Amino acid sequence: MKGIADWIDKRAFITPERTALMDERRQLSYLEMSAEVNRLARMLDDRYGLQPGERVGILAANSIEYLLTLFAIAKLGCIAVVLNIRLTPDELEYQLNDSGTRILIAETAYRIEGEGLLETTGIQDILWYDHREESPMQLCNLSAAYPAELLTRKEADGNSPFIICYTSGTTGRPKGAVLTQENMFWNAVNNVLALDLTSHDKSLTLLPLFHIGGIGLFALPTLFAGGAVIVPNRFDPEKALQLIEEHAVTIVMGVPTIYDYIQKSPNFETANLQSIRWFYCGGAPCSHELIHIYLERGLTFAQGFGMTEASPTVFMTSREDYTRKIGSIGKPVMFSEIRVVDEGGRDVSCGEIGELLIKGGNIMQGYWNRPEATAATFRDGWLLTGDLVTQDEEGFVYIVGRKKDMMISGGENIYPLEVEQVIGQLSAVDEVAVIGMADPKWGEVPVAVISVKAGHELTMDDVKNHCFKRLAKYKVPVMVRFVSDLPKNATGKIDKKMIKTDFMKEEQHG
Ligand code: ATP
Ligand code: MG
Repeated sequence: MKGIADWIDKRAFITPERTALMDERRQLSYLEMSAEVNRLARMLDDRYGLQPGERVGILAANSIEYLLTLFAIAKLGCIAVVLNIRLTPDELEYQLNDSGTRILIAETAYRIEGEGLLETTGIQDILWYDHREESPMQLCNLSAAYPAELLTRKEADGNSPFIICYTSGTTGRPKGAVLTQENMFWNAVNNVLALDLTSHDKSLTLLPLFHIGGIGLFALPTLFAGGAVIVPNRFDPEKALQLIEEHAVTIVMGVPTIYDYIQKSPNFETANLQSIRWFYCGGAPCSHELIHIYLERGLTFAQGFGMTEASPTVFMTSREDYTRKIGSIGKPVMFSEIRVVDEGGRDVSCGEIGELLIKGGNIMQGYWNRPEATAATFRDGWLLTGDLVTQDEEGFVYIVGRKKDMMISGGENIYPLEVEQVIGQLSAVDEVAVIGMADPKWGEVPVAVISVKAGHELTMDDVKNHCFKRLAKYKVPVMVRFVSDLPKNATGKIDKKMIKTDFMKEEQHG
């Protein structure tokens, strides 16, 4: 199989004039994109003598240059290590060492954190760039002297690892999933088929490109289909609405937090969103309230499920079902197989809770440098997701929670998501997280941490009374703590690890 940079070169041949990339200030046709990627690949090779399989880090915010860099690295058969710009210096150092990154391509905006990396990590060189228009340090200026003709790749093909992408770190330290160019191909094919993507589509990238959500949903699939990708520099709800109108965007991917910001924008009601074919939401459980806000606005707001290890798409709801099966993540996409199994690895019956197992050409090779974690994640060729789900008679899958979040209280299983959904029905609740607290009598008991909507009031008794009417007694939070905001990680997911740590600290200090 050919490598992913071939998609761009081939499109530059078939539809050279079509727009490939856009941001707030410029746009590139496929011909221009291909030329930029080839120049950049030559420049990187010339400066650093890169060998296939070597790791090249990227530390940058979203921009056109980010995507050009990814394709240039892929062209050389190197592995891009996509780094979260919100990492602390220690975390960054850990990921650079863990991945064995030799060259770092970084935006000057992150220079302060970057300066010491040459001493503390195995990095041999940092290529600083600035994507701002007036800067002479834009990547296109740095590579301008190199020829734009097609560069024959060194050894890149479908089996070449393409990126090391760290998981969100929701359940522990982020793990570096190794995804090949072929994984990205299957993810593109799955998305093209699930969304009916064509060269007329325009996707808006709101998720960070250092996360698989930004790369795989839907930047790469859109380029695979020959469409246009719009990459704003950072997420801003008003800007997102404005870009949708201005460019007649057809598909958008987001996590619930992003969609919540968008619907809270004063421009949400009046914005012209008619061009949108799909608003897809995934990455974390989406409240029914949020789904209804979009549906009542007449928008196609559908759920999907993905994970870093799967490049990332596994499930998507279809046009026939996104209103009929609210709360479901849909059915597996075309080239994705699933099973739902019990602790002993036996398939469970409809309606029973089991762990989701997945298989397909989009699934990672393994975790970088983690043979044990990799071995523990695969069983007989199936990837164990750690997600607990049920499946209905028609095959629709529903998320019940994460295995690691489940608590056992006096021998009974409690799935925090179920309790969160019940508490979320209270109109005063903005966001809620239910966590387990150690308890000498019951082992663990549920505790709710809630942020209340502006102008609303809510007491612990309101929450408990509401829960007692709807949940078995052992599932009702023994305590409710009110906070102004729930902490989120860079992907926009509620950070339960941090909530737990904060909670423990406050408990200790009374
Ligand atoms: P880590 O693996 O480091 O703990 P993470 O699992 O959050 O972090 P990601 O790969 O970004 O890292 O997220 C994948 C997970 O997100 C899935 O395993 C699942 O738990 C959750 N998820 C994805 N889509 C949905 C969805 N539509 N509804 C509920 N949960 C979802
Ligand atoms: Mg995970």
